[in-house]
Amino acid sequence: MHSNAEIISRLSAAIATIHQEPVPQTVLPADEALTHARKSIQQHLPSTGLGLEETIRHLQHDIAPGFNAGSRSPNYYGFVTGGVTQAAALADNLVTAYDQNVQVHLPKETVATNIEDAALSLLCELLKLDPSQWPHRIFTTGATSSNTVGLACAREYVITEASAHKSGTTNSIGELGIVRALRNAGIDEIQIVTTVPHSSLIKAASILGLGRTSVKDVSLKDSPHKFDMPRLEKLLEQPGSASIIAISASEVNTGLFATSGLEEMQQFRKLADTYGAWIHVDGAFGIFGRVLTSPAHQPIIDASAGLELADSITGDGHKLLNVPYDCGFFFSKHREIAPRVFGNPNAAYLSTGPASDNIASPLNIGMENSRRFRALPVYASLTAYGSDGYRDMLERQIELSRAVAEYLEDSEHYELLAKVGDSREIAMNNIYMIVLFRAKNEVLNKELVNKIKDSKKIYLSGTAWEGKPACRFAVSNWQADVKRDLPIIKQVLEDVINT
Ligand SMILES: *Cc1c(COP(=O)(O)O)cnc(C)c1O
Repeated sequence: MHSNAEIISRLSAAIATIHQEPVPQTVLPADEALTHARKSIQQHLPSTGLGLEETIRHLQHDIAPGFNAGSRSPNYYGFVTGGVTQAAALADNLVTAYDQNVQVHLPKETVATNIEDAALSLLCELLKLDPSQWPHRIFTTGATSSNTVGLACAREYVITEASAHKSGTTNSIGELGIVRALRNAGIDEIQIVTTVPHSSLIKAASILGLGRTSVKDVSLKDSPHKFDMPRLEKLLEQPGSASIIAISASEVNTGLFATSGLEEMQQFRKLADTYGAWIHVDGAFGIFGRVLTSPAHQPIIDASAGLELADSITGDGHKLLNVPYDCGFFFSKHREIAPRVFGNPNAAYLSTGPASDNIASPLNIGMENSRRFRALPVYASLTAYGSDGYRDMLERQIELSRAVAEYLEDSEHYELLAKVGDSREIAMNNIYMIVLFRAKNEVLNKELVNKIKDSKKIYLSGTAWEGKPACRFAVSNWQADVKRDLPIIKQVLEDVINT
């Protein structure tokens, strides 16, 4: 049995070695490695195990060569993958070593729940949210779960608001189920009014019994990320409906935000208060725009201003926070709603006794009971780098994104898409960390994503834009370095034209 201190020092040494290795030169495995890895996968349970030594060899030599470089390579620009900071990597290994189950607040037994609460509070500070205003806060497995938690709280709240004119006991979906609660409230639908929703919001609507068709897109024709305000208000005032307003704070395809300043958010707040609606912000990576301070980032600073007026906020840890998968976070202003939705009743063995510190047991305010101590990597990383460190990481990522955008804008072969404003300067200053583009040659454009992936030097995702295929860079790794990475990107984009 090793002492705690010994475990930490052994793991730190191991992590330090991993991080001294050079950045992987290729982002995808060689075809032979993939084939070999896939053929090597054990398809049947052995009766006599292979043993630890052979299994380590198997993982190291057969299986791991079949993984992509993912979060380990800053040149992996697919999806919004994120990276892993050194502090987070160390902490994540400690999480496994100590295997804490963070479901019940047990202050006499472990500090795990104190760390989770502190990590969430530090995160609030990083994002310029007053921790005392966000008393319902919890780590989740990712933004999809945070959106699900958010819509579940919103659903409970709007039904209460819609029932406010009726006397008697609280009308709760958590208690009565959605059908009876809706009937009691005298309404026939809960609608989610939004623009450019992430697919996971629609999935959450399905999981929660609201239905995918309850998600209503009220975008402006010419700027699809912005709300058509008159149409929004029309839907809100519709009798028989209770409403959730879902704001996409940076959309995955373009990086564009649904709002562009405090005043717009104030308008939403006023409407929500008038009609008893709940405002949920999906800021999976957009919420991190709030760490920026430089005038070069003013449009992003403005777009993420006012989000503190929402009722709830989704954020992702495994994206721009650069902690390992799987980590998301959720903040809500309505602590009283949390146990009405997530209260885990009647488990006497889980009772926690009086706690003077006001920390809720996570099992009563989130989806899971037993849960991973995913708060520790967040705590470690925020402590290690602070707000200046995180600002520096994000600024380097934006610098690289804008350098790529400048290159595309100047190129005769490529076209930068989803540009904002009518000057180059405005367009560039609106770029966050996503760059959408296509090849001008239509034949090449159809194969562009695959050709770029075939280079194995950089990886990015394909999408569609205005009915045609398009490519998108999502820069989301703390290691981003314009001097090192831009030449690699340019080379790949040029080779693709010339072959
Ligand atoms: C990535 C993303 C999600 C889903 O997040 P997961 O972490 O994959 O669950 C939701 N919303 C937005 C805006 C995203 O970018």
